[in-house]
Amino acid sequence: KEGLSKTRKGFIDKVETLFTGRAIDDEFFEELEEILIQADVGVKTTMKLVDDLRDIVDERRIKDTGELRSIFKEEIEKLLGEPSPLEFKEGLNILMVVGVNGVGKTTTIAKIADRLKREGKKILLAAGDTFRAAAIDQLKVWGNRVGVDVIAHSEGADAGAVVFDAIHAAQSRGVDLLIVDTAGRLHTQKNLMEELKKVRRVIDKEANDAYVQVLQVVDATTGQNAINQVKLFNEAVKVDGIVLTKLDGTAKGGIVIAIKDELDIPIKLIGVGEKAEDLQDFNPKDFIAALFA
Ligand code: GDP
Repeated sequence: KEGLSKTRKGFIDKVETLFTGRAIDDEFFEELEEILIQADVGVKTTMKLVDDLRDIVDERRIKDTGELRSIFKEEIEKLLGEPSPLEFKEGLNILMVVGVNGVGKTTTIAKIADRLKREGKKILLAAGDTFRAAAIDQLKVWGNRVGVDVIAHSEGADAGAVVFDAIHAAQSRGVDLLIVDTAGRLHTQKNLMEELKKVRRVIDKEANDAYVQVLQVVDATTGQNAINQVKLFNEAVKVDGIVLTKLDGTAKGGIVIAIKDELDIPIKLIGVGEKAEDLQDFNPKDFIAALFA
């Protein structure tokens, strides 16, 4: 996969060099630790991984770095667990999409809409970021391009009211999937969280038996910040799944491992480029295979 080539060159090549014919001693583990931390795996997760490897080396009396390489791969695979793709049910599905401005929220919404429209689903978008006129316009442009309707009010309108209208429109039009864009201005964090909670309340109240999921979009190039952002939004609106964008733009793909280990929220999709097909279901096995090609 081309999208992961930077991580392969920046992170994995260092791992491969380390695992090539040398003694497994303290220095080896210290170097591994450094490589993992530099690749955004995070201190906690790095310590855990390296400690586990030390134990395995002791227990099984491993002398060969080649053997340890396969064990390292297996440990990461174990850590990443099973895939958890986006799922949709019969009837109305609602995706509330949250995230800080600039992470790729709007393009992710467009990519999801495009994919599901091709699968024959009836889709509606709600322009819930009423704070910025540009956000409303951008969603309309995408709606036009993909060929789906957008429910929008004017700039400064109440986000809850937009979502209220969108849900009722979705219900009366027999829509399969309503995707709700939301504001992401972090400089007024408190207000933002209150606004998102309100949007969530409107959805829960009006959606009847719709299948509601909150998706948070985070930018892989922001490293550990991505984890802090999820913690913050999860407290306010309870996040069901993560979309990790811009993995093609970082050499530190270790953030995937940190997210999985530090948060109890699955990565559903990854973005590895700007084109529609660059938003992919996250599959741990494929991910590892692409890295350790
Ligand atoms: P928003 O402010 O969160 O709505 O962000 P946008 O959707 O406007 O995206 C910001 C920029 O990131 C745009 O230029 C997108 O094309 C770009 N972008 C989004 N996802 C990806 C990705 O997976 N890879 C790359 N390279 N760029 C992306």
